[in-house]
Amino acid sequence: MRPENQIMTSKIASAQEEQPAPAIGYHPVLAGQAALVTGASSGIGQGVALGLARAGADVVVNYVSDQAGAEAVAQRIEGLGRRALVLRADVSQEDEVETMFARAIAEWGTLHIAVTNAGLQRDAAITDMTLEQWNKVLDVNLTGQFLCHRAAVREFRRRGVDPAVSRAAGKIICMSSVHQRIPWAGHANYAASKGGVMMLMQTLAQEVAPDRIRVNAIAPGAIRTPINRSAWDTPEAYAALMELAPYGRIGEPDDVAQAAVWLASDASDYVTGTTLFVDGGMALYPGFAHGG
Ligand code: NAD
Repeated sequence: MRPENQIMTSKIASAQEEQPAPAIGYHPVLAGQAALVTGASSGIGQGVALGLARAGADVVVNYVSDQAGAEAVAQRIEGLGRRALVLRADVSQEDEVETMFARAIAEWGTLHIAVTNAGLQRDAAITDMTLEQWNKVLDVNLTGQFLCHRAAVREFRRRGVDPAVSRAAGKIICMSSVHQRIPWAGHANYAASKGGVMMLMQTLAQEVAPDRIRVNAIAPGAIRTPINRSAWDTPEAYAALMELAPYGRIGEPDDVAQAAVWLASDASDYVTGTTLFVDGGMALYPGFAHGG
């Protein structure tokens, strides 16, 4: 190993142990708004739920299995002076999604923001991938977003624009991935689901723009969460990951939360049908940084 590479490796090892950056720069731009975040008991969903609360929103914390995690997030939201509502629903189940939205609306009168974040991976080489693995990922990552978007649009249309609250009748933020653009061998189900999310988001944005409903997506790169622990929890894995992240650090859930707050706020009122990449440059073909 060349000496400069040794220096890089030790820098990477210490970066791997860095604590997440403190949440900075939040202003109450979402005061008076109610948000629902799916898969909010951990990872990016938890970070987004807390970010929206820091920006003044009340937040429905959806979870599917980790009730204790969801309740801990709710406590932190209440600690920020906002309201929280913990609701269990499997986003791939139509009746559970319908019941969740109905309960949230019954409790708080309406919803203004929906963040469809719940997602999972079931990785396998194509010849080993079972139909169950394929269907599970498509059911949660894509059909789950469709079911939540449909319920959210119905409510946003029912209420219409309330100018005292927001210039839009509602905001939908889809959690996509850099893999809506970057092919990913061994993850055909996941990449297909995120490619589907991109076109679902754009089509829905076109369809509901006349109702003043904005639909956008966030495409995270590598964010430090449970879904990709094996990609960052050893110095060797972190160093390999940095080959794919030109900005030279892993993302934190708060990096995604900051983007979500902007997309939910009137600061982005003329933005719809867009994917905001929050990826430290991962989608910039880093392999071409030298030569090519
Ligand atoms: P995570 O595993 O911490 O979060 C996923 C959440 O979705 C979990 O809370 C899980 O319980 C929930 N969930 C799974 N199935 C569900 C279901 N049927 N109904 C309701 N909730 C369900 O991982 P994360 O990294 O925070 O992932 C959040 C989203 O971000 C996912 O859509 C993922 O594809 C996307 N993403 C993550 C990264 C990353 O680097 N972490 C990168 C790109 C995209």
